[in-house]
Amino acid sequence: MQRRFLNLSLLALAAAATSGAWAQSYPNKVIRLQVPFAPGGTTDIIARTIADPLGKALGQPVVVENKAGGGGVLGATETAKAVPDGYSLGIATVSTTAANPAINPKIAYNPLTDFTPIINIAATPNVIAVHPSFPAKDYASFIAELKRSPGRHSFATSGTGGIGHLQMELYKNKTSTFITHIPYRGGGPALNDTVAGQVPIIFDNLPSALPFIQGGRLVPIVVAAPTRLAVLPNVPTFKEVGLEPVNRMAYYGILGPKGLPKEVIDKVNAGVRKALEDPAVRKRIEETGSLIVANTPEQFAEQIKAEFTVYKQVVDSAKLTLD
Ligand code: GLU
Repeated sequence: MQRRFLNLSLLALAAAATSGAWAQSYPNKVIRLQVPFAPGGTTDIIARTIADPLGKALGQPVVVENKAGGGGVLGATETAKAVPDGYSLGIATVSTTAANPAINPKIAYNPLTDFTPIINIAATPNVIAVHPSFPAKDYASFIAELKRSPGRHSFATSGTGGIGHLQMELYKNKTSTFITHIPYRGGGPALNDTVAGQVPIIFDNLPSALPFIQGGRLVPIVVAAPTRLAVLPNVPTFKEVGLEPVNRMAYYGILGPKGLPKEVIDKVNAGVRKALEDPAVRKRIEETGSLIVANTPEQFAEQIKAEFTVYKQVVDSAKLTLD
């Protein structure tokens, strides 16, 4: 019995030593960076901006793969269940790590214990925007129209249980208005239908919506940001219109499954920081209205925890459900 225990301990030691050895030579093949939403959304934009310079910093290609569905939950579940070898990483979004887990009890992962947070790349503002045919061009006329026509309008978001869905439900709750939710497989397809006039209102993360706003194909109504944005100086924040609880930004970081070796975490964290030292990469992120964060794995873990707690409170206090 004792001998068997000894053998098992030796096996465990050998496994640990091997894992240490491979982690030291990490990475020696392609790294997959999963986007849990369709192309064209903010997650996709941030992933594709960072993938190439990150690959250069790490000495191996970083390939972006989209796995959309279930408000990001499908992709996030896959990342949570991946082998923790650093070759299957994913973009951490507020929707997959905080909003959706707060409202959906059926999610197969725990956002606080089933992932290894590595770095928060950027915080992005959110925006409510409307199709130019919508009978409102500013916040006062927008809320007046919602009050005038309860149940007449609908809004598009990146998916069920995501930040757009929850923030709009909170908005409806706080303003006593009623609009119908239409979920998509990401901000990209939600934008396509809003710009095409199929849905009159969208709640989106600013980076994906901004080009359409600047091109006059969407009209911005109100933003979630700490102060007014240089890119949209005439658009008020939710805080300004008396809706501070809705004034929350989104985040885009990198995570892996739980149990990633420290060497892998440190190398990817350092690789992203290095990528963000390039002024061209910073500019590409900042001109979308985003703020670069680039924090430590511990700080990012704390942020996810704090945001999950906030969304749990939002869900509980406004009694939000998925039905
Ligand atoms: N709304 C999602 C989030 O912020 C991202 C949507 C997308 O990238 O399509 O978590």
